[in-house]
Amino acid sequence: MNKWLQKIYRAFSPDIGIDLGTANTLVYLAGHGVVIDEPTIVALNEKTGRLVAIGNDAKQMIGRTPAHITVVRPLVDGVISNFEITEEMLAYFIRRARKLDPKKFLRPRVLVGVPSGITNVEIRAVRDAVKNAGAREVFIVEEPIAAALGIKLPTHEPVGSFIVDIGGGTCDIAVISLGGIVKAKNLRVAGDHLNHDIISYVRDEFKILLGEKTAEEVKLAIGSIWNEGEALEAIVRGRDLVTGLPKEVVLTDSDIKEAIAKSIVLLIEGIKEVLEATPPEVISDVMHKGIVLVGGGSLIRGLKEVLEKELKIPIHLADDPLTAVVRGTGVVLENLETYHEVLIEDDDIRQQDI
Ligand code: ADP
Ligand code: MG
Repeated sequence: MNKWLQKIYRAFSPDIGIDLGTANTLVYLAGHGVVIDEPTIVALNEKTGRLVAIGNDAKQMIGRTPAHITVVRPLVDGVISNFEITEEMLAYFIRRARKLDPKKFLRPRVLVGVPSGITNVEIRAVRDAVKNAGAREVFIVEEPIAAALGIKLPTHEPVGSFIVDIGGGTCDIAVISLGGIVKAKNLRVAGDHLNHDIISYVRDEFKILLGEKTAEEVKLAIGSIWNEGEALEAIVRGRDLVTGLPKEVVLTDSDIKEAIAKSIVLLIEGIKEVLEATPPEVISDVMHKGIVLVGGGSLIRGLKEVLEKELKIPIHLADDPLTAVVRGTGVVLENLETYHEVLIEDDDIRQQDI
């Protein structure tokens, strides 16, 4: 591109960072900060094939829709499961972000995060979706690196940083040093999984069927894996599997602990596997500096205590863990020269998951 054109683009094209999560989509507009933070949910009119609501508006419709409208999540386990819907959702969010900076009227450059373990084909799908959603140019960054930059870990120094991002669909465990991923593992155990654990537990123990939204609400309200202090309680409503009628039951934090125990064990095992595969020099950095938790799933009560007990390594909960990745896309966008090497190409050779 000639210099003159480049100057025009710099002046009139916005830079946008997107954390396209299974549970939440966040958008960063360079010069403005995080401007959108909404659930990755859409409501679809089955008759017309059109989207009728996106994000917060769609979430409110869950469980309250007439037959021809369905509420769907276009991402599953961290990857796009419905391409057209994802594209339309992204186009809507990008359009909304652009309105906030009307002086920058040209099409945006967009940087988007992807989970560490995804395939090149899946990366291409993300790239195409973002491009079709209106981007002039698309950059891709691996989410653990974005998260580490977002919370200001020394990613580009010759010291190891260990980061665990527990999202809705996946848990990304990664060791980072010198600007790249040294070892990583992507687990399908994350927030959604815990909701399903709670649903199964209540069905087996109380013969009551809970909706997914209720399971999520009770997890946030009383979810804990470390029983200390006063017991927490919540009243939940579901359908009695025997009578078919609505019924209330009181759940405690011990119930939730028991319900999600197996998943927490899988999480601990996943972290141990990555630790075991990590080179000794980096391990000694990690022993010293500890493991940092990000993502919404890291907010479950007692996770820090349980992980410290099991792993014997200091655990730190990042501030504002749900926005770490999108803040990281902002760091990259606003210093593209410095961080150019974290961007990945479709056919790049990347560290394989263990
Ligand atoms: P993603 O990147 O996959 O979109 P997020 O990092 O946005 O995921 O985290 C969303 C997940 O975090 C959801 O599964 C949600 O239930 C969970 N979550 C959010 N807040 C809490 C909390 N206080 N306690 C437990 N889980 C939480
Ligand atoms: Mg995420």
